[in-house]
Amino acid sequence: MSLSNVKCTVANCRYWQNENCQATGIEVNVDEGGKQAKDSMHTQCHTFEQK
Ligand code: SF4
Repeated sequence: MSLSNVKCTVANCRYWQNENCQATGIEVNVDEGGKQAKDSMHTQCHTFEQK
């Protein structure tokens, strides 16, 4: 079962469909590592797999 209400704009990910994520779960990390992001621009999805 996929996640509900996870909006995503990464159209070349194999889990992406119609602006939404179809993965069963995702991992999101801070860009520079660690556990403190400055803002949303400094986070990224590590579940991404290129189509
Ligand atoms: S796995 Fe990550 S990058 Fe891929 S569609 Fe889901 S949220 Fe977007």
